[in-house]
This record gives sequence, C-alpha cells and structure tokens, in this order.
Amino acid sequence: MSNVVNVEQIFGENVFTPGKMKERLPKSVYKAVRKVMDHGGELSLQDADVVAKAMKDWAVEKGATHFTHWFQPLTGITAEKHDSFVAHPDEDGRMLMEFSGKELIKGEPDASSFPSGGLRATFEARGYTAWDMTSPAFLKESGTGVTLCIPTAFCSYTGEALDKKTPLLRSMEAVSEQALRIVRLFGNTGATKVVASVGPEQEYFLVDKEKYLQRKDLIFAGRTLFGAPAPKGQEMEDHYFGVIRERVGSYMKDLNEELWKLGVTAKTQHNEVAPAQHELAPIYETANIAVDHNQIVMEAMKRVAIRHDLRCLLHEKPFAGVNGSGKHNNWSLGTDNGVNLLDPGETPNENIQFLLVLACILKAVDTHADLLRQSASDVGNDHRLGANEAPPAIISVFLGEQLEDVVKQLVETGMAVSCKEGGILETGVSTLPDLEKDATDRNRTSPFAFTGNKFEFRMVGSADSIASPNTTLNAIVAEAFCEAADALEQAEDFEQAVHDLIKEYMTKHQRIIFNGNGYSDEWVAEAAKRGLPNIRSMVEAVETLTTDKAVRLFEKFGIFTRAELESREEVLYETYSKTINIEALTMIDMASKQILPAVIRYTRTLADTVIAVKAAGAEPVVQAGLLQEASGLLEEAKKALEALKTADEKAASMPEGREQAFYYKDVVKTAMEALRAPIDALEMIVDKDVWPLPSYGDLMFEV
Ligand code: ADP
Ligand code: MG
Repeated sequence: MSNVVNVEQIFGENVFTPGKMKERLPKSVYKAVRKVMDHGGELSLQDADVVAKAMKDWAVEKGATHFTHWFQPLTGITAEKHDSFVAHPDEDGRMLMEFSGKELIKGEPDASSFPSGGLRATFEARGYTAWDMTSPAFLKESGTGVTLCIPTAFCSYTGEALDKKTPLLRSMEAVSEQALRIVRLFGNTGATKVVASVGPEQEYFLVDKEKYLQRKDLIFAGRTLFGAPAPKGQEMEDHYFGVIRERVGSYMKDLNEELWKLGVTAKTQHNEVAPAQHELAPIYETANIAVDHNQIVMEAMKRVAIRHDLRCLLHEKPFAGVNGSGKHNNWSLGTDNGVNLLDPGETPNENIQFLLVLACILKAVDTHADLLRQSASDVGNDHRLGANEAPPAIISVFLGEQLEDVVKQLVETGMAVSCKEGGILETGVSTLPDLEKDATDRNRTSPFAFTGNKFEFRMVGSADSIASPNTTLNAIVAEAFCEAADALEQAEDFEQAVHDLIKEYMTKHQRIIFNGNGYSDEWVAEAAKRGLPNIRSMVEAVETLTTDKAVRLFEKFGIFTRAELESREEVLYETYSKTINIEALTMIDMASKQILPAVIRYTRTLADTVIAVKAAGAEPVVQAGLLQEASGLLEEAKKALEALKTADEKAASMPEGREQAFYYKDVVKTAMEALRAPIDALEMIVDKDVWPLPSYGDLMFEV
C-alpha cells in the first residue's frame, strides 16, 4: 500500500511529552516538574531554566524558530503572539538561540484588545500569561514556520482570570477536593485526587473552497444568511454513517495524521446526518487537556481543509433546514487509583457510592440547570437549542431504564432491592453471535444523558470552547459533593445517613429526570409543570451567571469572583451584539450589491421577452406571470432591506450591554428573517445562471 503511515511512530511527534522531558532533563528536575504537574505548586526558576533550555533544544531540532504563549481569551478561540528564540549576537557576531525559564513561565502580551468585560481598562493593558504545566507544549506548523506553543492561563494585573482556562483549572481542583471527601467516606484512602475526564465529539461541515469564496455570508458570518432549500436534504438519511467520499476521506486522513502528531487521539470519524456534515471524536482525557486538544482539533480542521481546497465550517447552523452541528461533551470523574465514580457496576442498586454520586449529580443539575444551559450557549447555538432542533433548550437528565428503575425504588420504598439486567440480544441467525445487551438503551433527544459510565452533555455548540461547560459541570458537582460530605462526615450512623441522604436528594430532584422524547411539545408543557427552566436564547441565559445562587457557588469554590462573572456577562452581551451586527451588515451588503441587482437584470430580461413575444403575435402568459411574481418579491425584498438597515443603525447606536443585545435579538434578527424570506423565494424562481451565489445544492452535494 502506498501512503502508509506508522501511527505508533508519529503519535506525539510534535509534542514535548512527559516522556521527552524524562529523556532530556536531569532526574531531579524531571521529578520537580512531575510533582507540579500531578499535585500543583511552583517550579523554581533554576529548574524552569533547565526545562526551558531542553524544550527549546527539542523545538529547534524540529525546526522551530519561534515560541508563543498559547492562551484562550474570552473570544472562545485561542490567541498567540510569536517571539523568536533569536538573542543578542556575541562580539564575534554569532547568535545562539535562547529561551529562559522566565520566558517559559510568564509572558506579558499587550492585551488591551482582548475582551475583558471591564476587568481591565485599556490604559491598564497589562495582562499576564502563565505556563500551564498540566498541558504539554507542542509544535505548530503553519505559514510562519514551526512555532513552539506553550499552553498558558491569562490573567490581569490584579489576578483576575481573563480567559477560559483559569476558571476551568480552578473548577478541576474544586471538584477533586470535594470528590475526595466522598470517596474517603467509603474507605478509599489511596486516592490522592479525582480527575474530571472529557471526550468531546466534534461535528463539522466541509464545503468546496471555490464555492465558499463566492459567498460573503460564509466568509464573514461562517453561515449562510440566504439560501433556498435544495431539492434533497437529509430526509433519505443516506448520509449518516454513509460511505465517505474520496475527497473527504483524504481530508480525514490528513487531519488524523496531523492530530496524531500533535498527541490528539483522533479515534472515530463518520459522516453525520446532514449532507456534507461529518464528525471526529478523540479518546477522552483530563478535562484541561481535552479542552486544549479540542481547540487544536478545531484549528487543524480549518487548516487542513485549506490544503485540500476545502473550507471547514464549525458554525452551529451553516444551513437552514438541515441539522446543525454540536459537540457532545462526555464527562466523568475518576480517582487517581483507578475508580470511575460514574461506573455503576453490574448491580447499581448495591453500589452505594455510585448511588450517592448519582444523587449528587441529579441535585447539582436540577439546582443549576440554568447555569448549565448558559454554559452551552453561544450565538450560533441559538439556532439549535430550542429552535426545532436537537437538543431542546430545557435541561433534563436521561438515566435509562435500569437506573430509572433503581431511583424509583429508592424514592418509593427507600430501598433498591433489584436491578434490571441487560440480558442477551438474540440475533436469530445461527452463524451470528448473540450479543450481550446493555442494560440501557440510548436516548438521542436528551441534553444530559447517562451513557454507561459517563454523562454526555449534548447541548454544547460546535464552534464553542468546551471550557465553560466543563467549568460549570465541575463547579456544580463540587458543591453537591461538598454539601453531602458536610452532612455525612458528621453522621454517627454512616450507613443510615447515606441511605437517607440518597433518598432525600433523589426524591427532591427527581423532576430533572426525563427519559421520554425531548423534542416533543408535550415535554415542553410537562417541563413547565415541573418548574424546569426553559431558557430560549443566549442573551436570556446571560443573567444566570450573576444570580445570588451562582455567585455563592462560584465564589465558595474560588472559581469566579463576582467581578469575573460580571465581566463575562458584559463580554457575552457584546459578543452577541457584534455577531448579529456583522450578520446584518453582511446581509445588507449581499442583498444590495449582489442579489437585488441580479434580480433586476433578470426582470429586465423577462420584460424584454414579454415585449418580444407580444410583438411576435403570441400571448406571453408565463413570462408575464413570472415577471409579476419576481417584481412583487423584489419590492418586498427592497422594503425589508431598508427596514433592516434602519433597525441595524438603531442597534449600533445604542450603548453596549444587555438592552442592546436584546434589541439585536428581538428587532434586528427579526428584520433579517424578513429580508431572507423573499430572497429565498426569488432564488426558487430566478434563472440559476443569473443567481449570484452557489446554491445549497452546490454547497452540500458537490464536495
Ligand atoms: P458514542 O457516544 O458515539 O457511542 P463513545 O461511547 O465511544 O461514543 O464515546 C464518545 C466519547 O466519549 C469519546 O470521546 C470517548 O473517549 C468518550 N468517553 C468514553 N468513556 C468516557 C469516560 N469514562 N469519561 C469521559 N469520556 C468518555
Ligand atoms: Mg456520543
């Protein structure tokens, strides 16, 4: 076979792995590094100097000329500012590349232009990046050459988190500390920490570069703002898991190789539901690394697409009328001595530690459903959550038949004496093996589903960072663990106390459990009856961050201060307004300069035809009818265009903040829809040769 790669050989090739550190560092330094990586603390400057030199030597051997502190500001993507290793030449004019421990540990990008939500005025631009030793440094190859990327946290002069990584790391420590108290209660004295693990499944679309470049909406907004449906959509369900086309296949091959070299365990790939939609899932790992790796995956997806004359769309809803993209965030907690807290074992009814953990999670999700909803919201995800598409905007938990039954027994009788078993699935064919059945079937419509030994949070948007959802998950579960441990550590009769607590939590919070069809209208009504929040949009979710309940939670565990939460609110409103403004301006531009002129030309041709046909003595019934119809829609479009301009100008003139964001949502977005409708109708009747944009059919079926 040609083109064969040795995966074992290339895996982690571009990562400064713990293994490489071990090889290249003196034993004592490696030990010091390992200690900080595993248990926190600080590295001495002398040790940091040694690590920096080894890291630089390795990077330079691999062709690196620059290094960067790679960080994750509140934009949700990553940022980097490159510095070369070039140093002062000596007196003979020779230059030896340098990289010091100080440069490794701390950076100071001029950070005034990153969103900070008022945490830092522009005249106090100081922002610091600090080396995150728990996530390995890696090499990125791009147009600028090879760059050593050092994962860092990003903080202000006064120590406030200006990024997504710092709160995540804080939340991981919080949940570890509280979960340890729980496992200690059950006699696990060997564990020294509990690690949150995450495996994110990433969906994306691929379109042809030439066609992409003909659409300003894809270029500026990442999604189509106009577009009539193609004759075929996803109704045949022939794309899901379908045979992967050659061009897409070679893209996936390249992408996998690139990711493997970067130490990302790309594992699964398949075609998704919508035409031109695909998915990639890595193997799960520590939450912090999973978050960094997901950023690397999203960057690589875009970079590799360009090499294949494709463009990768990560937007949550690139096309109206077919499925959008999300990210399934698989999450679990495990001790460092090998116990997955979410593993129910064969007989969950007898696994008291598991039942307590489950009860705590139910309590956490019910208490903070609003925060979880918020953590998965971004501008693009508004087109999915609660908008006729998976998953619903209402948070509920799917447990599956087996666990639901256990919970029911506990709530009703205080005891769970039996558990439903999976059994054998008979294939009915003698040459096929019978399969062992899972005790629980799947539910694709639930936003938060138990899947065997982990929870799958399915609400997250495809373009979003997974830092916020995991920070929130860790935080709310830490709180529930803390409250349970507070009660149980005092108990005289532990067995009785834990039994009572499980029953109490499950009874009180059972309303959050829902195993039915989350897409149905009945569920919306039922959820309202149960008092579950139904937050329909990103801007409506923002204020959940600063409720008393939220501030108490995040401050108690040192994850966010009130000021940090308020800053995030401000950034979210701003982000929303700016995004919708760009979309509105793009629509105005496309409609004014491309679409309306094309329609005007088309009506002109029709008018000429009508006259010519008449002159030739025939009745131009069809031509005149079409002309009427097109002219009517043209008039409607022109009016809607003017209305959109007015709405957007008004919005842009408002002071930034909550009111402006709501205006964009309620008025500008509505005006955008009003413009889109007649234009999509025109696309259905206007000659394809004169339509100035590639159609949905061209974009989705001709990759
Ligand atoms: P699917 O949900 O499509 O069946 P899998 O069960 O294989 O897929 O898992 C999807 C993702 O969940 C993968 O990234 C996988 O590594 C991750 N995953 C599996 N087990 C765990 C776990 N215990 N904790 C966190 N993530 C996990
Ligand atoms: Mg899944």
